[in-house]
Amino acid sequence: MTHDVTAPVTGSPTRQEALAWDAADPLARFRDRYLPLDEHVVAYLDGNSLGRPLASIGTAWDAAMQQWSGRLIRGWSEGWLELPGTVGDELGAAALGAAPGQVVVADSTTVLLYKCVRAALNLRPGRTRVVLDGEDFPTDRYVVASLARDLGLDLVWLRAQTAHGLTAEDVAAAVDERTAAVVLSHVDYRSGALADAAAITAAAHAAGALTVWDCSHSVGVCPIELDAWRVDLAVGCTYKFVGAGPGAPAFTYVAARHHETLDQPVWGWLGRRDPFDMEQGYVPAAGITRMLSGTPPVLGLLAVREGAALIAEAGLPAIRAKSVALTEAAVALTDEWLVPAGFTLISPRDSDRRGGHVSIARTDARRVCARLVDRGVLADFRRPDVLRLGLSPLPGSRAELWDAMAVLRAVAHDS
Ligand SMILES: *Cc1c(COP(=O)(O)O)cnc(C)c1O
Repeated sequence: MTHDVTAPVTGSPTRQEALAWDAADPLARFRDRYLPLDEHVVAYLDGNSLGRPLASIGTAWDAAMQQWSGRLIRGWSEGWLELPGTVGDELGAAALGAAPGQVVVADSTTVLLYKCVRAALNLRPGRTRVVLDGEDFPTDRYVVASLARDLGLDLVWLRAQTAHGLTAEDVAAAVDERTAAVVLSHVDYRSGALADAAAITAAAHAAGALTVWDCSHSVGVCPIELDAWRVDLAVGCTYKFVGAGPGAPAFTYVAARHHETLDQPVWGWLGRRDPFDMEQGYVPAAGITRMLSGTPPVLGLLAVREGAALIAEAGLPAIRAKSVALTEAAVALTDEWLVPAGFTLISPRDSDRRGGHVSIARTDARRVCARLVDRGVLADFRRPDVLRLGLSPLPGSRAELWDAMAVLRAVAHDS
């Protein structure tokens, strides 16, 4: 194919318009809170997989090194042991719509999902059915499949019928008096579809089932109201839009109304009442603390604290508004520049039903993605043919997106 990629395109924003938009962006000042991009990176469109580093995390870690070297073992009784709950409350207030005492930060998303699904089954004795998304992120499918094998569960695999993802009607049709739990992602990792978590939770509750939401791709970028939506249990990553760094611990939420009978499967000493009594037999701690198992990852927790503080300062409504503006711009440029080159938009067109990334497809997406990386545009490829454009509102800008899309247009037209 030969196309003049420098020809002006009507309808889509120009680079000047993108720059003007950035100059008026109320969140522009947050861009400087991040360490600068490497000079070879034109655009970073992978913040939905690994967020960019916040400079304040380095400061927090320096202070932690001082505390570690000065206080040594005494650090545990001088705040470290409480971090899973205090940072959980901070993240809960900033990003989850969770009142205090219902969130802890610990373990990985995978491990917490296991604990949550098992705990949900324990809260619904006699029910052996779990409803889940057949296209969900692999770890979510594997965790539930492992529980199904061990416990003899009956799994109901759903499949979204449209680009808008699974709906409350899909879930209502799949749940009944045998269903213990509905396990779903709030934002689909591949398409970016944003589920109506409140309506789906209500549909599950109507059949007496509980919901376990994976908010990995929505936390920090989409409004989440776990309390108001009557969600039962939830988990999510902190190294994506929260920006707490590679391998940062995940969060879990359990609604207070379930705490008294909450029973998770990984009984560890730090989830026990009075752990330092070192007593025989496991007696769960009161409240959300019983979701903990072992020693808190202090450095990771301190990084989650920085991410949560930044989200609180910027405010989720403003973050969401910028996220929608960025994804709308990406959709407009896709229509204008990439659809003529054979790409299709697979994310929902309706921004109310779209999370923080935009996905497009073409059969050679893997090769296109590799060529983008060669030219300094870091995006990612998802099998079989999807290119994901992750748009982080706090470090990102319209000009960065415009530059990335211009490179993508050139690559798409000459490959
Ligand atoms: C990123 C992601 C995970 C990652 O789980 P880890 O245990 O951190 O590897 C899990 N679920 C979903 C939906 C994700 O998007």
